Amino acid sequence: MQLPAGFDIEKLNIRFREMFGLPLPENGNDNREVSPSENGTEDEAGSNTPFTPPDPADFGFTLMDAGEFPEEPPMVEGLSPQTMKQWKVVPLSVTPEKVTVAMADPLDLYLREVLSGIFKVRIEPRWAEEEDIVAAVYRWYEADVDLEGTEDEETAELDDSLWDDPEQLRDLASEAPVIRLVNHVISRSLEVKASDIHFEPYRDQLKIRFRIDGVLHDVETVSKRLQPAITSRLKLMAKMNIAEMRLPQDGRIKVREGKREIDIRVSSLPTLFGESIVLRLLNRDEVKLELSSLGLSDDILSNFEKIIQKPYGMVLVTGPTGSGKTTTLYAVMNRINSPDKKIVTVEDPVEYQLDGINQIQVKPDIGLTFASSLRTILRQDPDVVLIGEIRDTETAEIAVQSALTGHLMFSTLHTNDAASAITRLQEMEIESYLLSSCLLAVMAQRLVRRICPHCRTQYPVKPGFIEEISKAMGAEIENPPEFLWKGRGCQACAMTGYSGRTGIYELLLINDEIESLILNETDSGTIAASAQAAGMRTLRQDGILKVLAGETTFEEVMRVTN
Ligand SMILES: [Zn+2]
Repeated sequence: MQLPAGFDIEKLNIRFREMFGLPLPENGNDNREVSPSENGTEDEAGSNTPFTPPDPADFGFTLMDAGEFPEEPPMVEGLSPQTMKQWKVVPLSVTPEKVTVAMADPLDLYLREVLSGIFKVRIEPRWAEEEDIVAAVYRWYEADVDLEGTEDEETAELDDSLWDDPEQLRDLASEAPVIRLVNHVISRSLEVKASDIHFEPYRDQLKIRFRIDGVLHDVETVSKRLQPAITSRLKLMAKMNIAEMRLPQDGRIKVREGKREIDIRVSSLPTLFGESIVLRLLNRDEVKLELSSLGLSDDILSNFEKIIQKPYGMVLVTGPTGSGKTTTLYAVMNRINSPDKKIVTVEDPVEYQLDGINQIQVKPDIGLTFASSLRTILRQDPDVVLIGEIRDTETAEIAVQSALTGHLMFSTLHTNDAASAITRLQEMEIESYLLSSCLLAVMAQRLVRRICPHCRTQYPVKPGFIEEISKAMGAEIENPPEFLWKGRGCQACAMTGYSGRTGIYELLLINDEIESLILNETDSGTIAASAQAAGMRTLRQDGILKVLAGETTFEEVMRVTN
């Protein structure tokens, strides 16, 4: 590292060590204001010279005017307001390439290194007065603390009466800093393409977390004192009953961001330390309901396309919750939808509205179950029926019957692999001869995170790795790659290294041999082996193809297929 002239490396080293709580060097002087008269006897002569900090102006910096600070703070992770004040720094703006930071001492190279380590991008320092930095930190991140007056820390304990006074809650929720904080969290969640925002109360703090590409990330912790205000603000926005805190509630928020309209489903749940609130962001514009954009490999896509054009029979999609089954089936509906076909769905819940398709929401409390809705639907003579999920014997029976009587039937099941869907239906007491005659195909699927395109980088393949994936593929890999891809982590992907998701698939086609295995009630392992012999790739094998193609990582495929 090249230090500008006039820098005292020892002094910087001490400052660096102090910041990280590291032991100070033996001869180091832990008193930053070096005073020669007191320490002179123990110190070497050199350090008796008082340290004069260099002037940033000599290095081309111009002092920022307080008015140059932006109105709203950028949302950055990794630095608490307290640390910002202690280090006399505050981030001003964030791009995927750099973070611009106001610093009281822009010549502090150690601090710049540290910040660049925290944000994992280049730091562009700007020079600002310490008072202006502290004022900005206060205004942006801490002014909220004053909401409840001038209580000291001892009285941070929540006042019970506050919880019972809706008027006071309403006032609190209307305070500008609270509105700003909530709006800020929502707009940041849209920036990083989070699917859910969790506000989780704990004994002494309120934790805010984002789910991005299926994985939860801590974003912020907020003072417990702000909890009633934030919770009430969210409930007001979602048109929920602000005074009701003992029962779970549901609501909706509509947000407009540019041209996009974002629908947010809000639910509250009372917990030990207050209401936990979850916001689920449904962004209609971003839902890609096309089979070709689901990440199906060419061979699977072409086989699947043939299956879904058949006049009748049953097609099942399996996988755990959140594996993208519904999206796949919606894409199928879009694909086969045409004016000459009547398509009806029974769902719980109806997640997206599809044009030209009759969608029914199950309501068990008024007797509208999957089974009863299905019976009604079949009287209306549909060509294609989608049942959100087969959960019970009754639904399974009606589904099989209608698939046998000229309807194309689609549904989902919670099984780990494709072959287990067959044995699951047999466990639900579906007759094997009926199942073997109606079933066309079963597709198992998982979602894997895609490597972030902004920070995608190659790395050399470790020794033994190719053997490992050859084993999982059950075949030698021809021309094994020397390099694979991963994401380093950048601002664009919230440091995760991943951005967006794609599917991995296992398509089990029912051929004559598998039909007879079903008839003989053979175990799922034998069925899977037979399908593999006929050319089926397992989920993991399909995933490894995507690893080799640089779309995702081996770790990611192992995470979702274990
Ligand atoms: Zn990235």
